[in-house]
Amino acid sequence: MVTGTLAIRLDDIDKHGTLLEVPLSNEYLAPLLFEEVYRPRTPGRVRVFVKKHRNAVVAICDLDATVSIICCRCCSERERAIALHFEQTYYPLPEDRVGTTTEDDDSGDDLDRFYYTGDRLDFERGVREHFVFALDPHPVCGANERCTPIDTTAPADEEPELAAPVDPRWAKLMTVKLADG
Ligand SMILES: [Zn+2]
Repeated sequence: MVTGTLAIRLDDIDKHGTLLEVPLSNEYLAPLLFEEVYRPRTPGRVRVFVKKHRNAVVAICDLDATVSIICCRCCSERERAIALHFEQTYYPLPEDRVGTTTEDDDSGDDLDRFYYTGDRLDFERGVREHFVFALDPHPVCGANERCTPIDTTAPADEEPELAAPVDPRWAKLMTVKLADG
């Protein structure tokens, strides 16, 4: 296990895989969070299990952090645990692209493709980007009626379903019950 950095030399990756574990301080997390709605709460941690697969390197990442959210509906502040599990594959940068940066790459490759050059891999940027994109910019706490998530699977133009009509045989019972209560 390597502690303290999310980078590793290719030669240092064990053939059975190597685990990197790095704490994520609040100072590190703060600029990655949408500042209006998130606040770091307790330091997090990221673990990256790195394994070579031919000339590619697979990184299996687990990121845990606890943050405060400001609910977008009820404005209350709540603690929220974030647990992300994701996989990234790093490929050696093709010869003809050495010298260009992967950032301004517009060759249409899928966004989950990461590249490395030389004999060292750095997972920091990939992990950071995944974390930023995984966060909901409009977090909802769901703790009370006002912020129960809306069912987005229902067609938008459909009227909300009305309560099922009461069976006339039960209607009388309901009246009785109401009168009693
Ligand atoms: Zn809420």
